[in-house]
Amino acid sequence: MPKNAPDPVTAAAAPEEQVVDRPAQKPDHPRYCVEPGVAIRLADMSTGESEGYEAKSDVKAELDHHRERIVALQARLYAEQRRSLLIVLQAMDTGGKDGAIKHVFQGINPQGCRVWSFKAPSAEESSHDFLWRYHRRTPSRGMITIFNRSHYEDVLVVRVKRLVPEDVWRARYEAIRDFERTLARENVVILKFFLNISKDEQKRRLEARLQDPEKHWKFSSHDLKERAFWDDYQRAFEDAVNATSTAYAPWYVVPADKKWFRNLVIARTIADTLQSMDPRFPEAEEGLDTIVVPD
Ligand code: AMP
Ligand code: MG
Repeated sequence: MPKNAPDPVTAAAAPEEQVVDRPAQKPDHPRYCVEPGVAIRLADMSTGESEGYEAKSDVKAELDHHRERIVALQARLYAEQRRSLLIVLQAMDTGGKDGAIKHVFQGINPQGCRVWSFKAPSAEESSHDFLWRYHRRTPSRGMITIFNRSHYEDVLVVRVKRLVPEDVWRARYEAIRDFERTLARENVVILKFFLNISKDEQKRRLEARLQDPEKHWKFSSHDLKERAFWDDYQRAFEDAVNATSTAYAPWYVVPADKKWFRNLVIARTIADTLQSMDPRFPEAEEGLDTIVVPD
């Protein structure tokens, strides 16, 4: 932030941004937030919504504004050392988890932020209870931690690919709610995003990976095999979201066919959540105005 620029946390938005600024109390609620106890049907949820914006350029100023808010609020969260933020990102393959991380967290102090990407569990991880590898990566006080995939894989891929019997994965919904409630009681604020793309959009993204040499590294034939299970994954996501959207760890189902709109919704929700946490710089030592630093 330039020296004399207004503080993005407290300053009023610039006039052109004011129309799109929203109150910080209940982030994107109930638009994309899944109300606890109110079941959603993914088939009824928009993937292509963009609130009337037509192009990336339409949202640039607003996205920049929310990123600045995140950067400024993260500095306070880190200094405060009392609470933390856990952000869970889940999506179908190509759904945009990596892109969201790259675009939403630009400019954030790397010292206060960690990203953990969870792949198929190692032999050691598999030899523990399913939550073990996630719990040890949860944020310490002051930190923002992003889970790129998460404990939800253990009721998603694990269910779809029948890696454990049904009674085992079903019991995990309760285990997940208890786990998240424990974290919440210990001052971890939890935000969960399901980046909701359509099957057609996934086809376009897989084709783009095939066509662009710079994207070849992202293409995996494994994704094509998983695509054949699209309906099973949708059902697993729907059930997981419905079973685990709680007041202390809400799910946001983000329309994600337009990457720039997805980024806007995620940035806005995170900035509003951080603002509602109202992190404060710790009190300064007394008498700082009388201290002279010796030569
Ligand atoms: P990617 O995120 O594209 O690198 O892929 C990671 C892979 O790890 C995906 O195919 C996931 O389904 C898989 N994965 C992540 N967590 C688990 C888990 N708990 N059990 C089995 N597979 C998993
Ligand atoms: Mg992948």
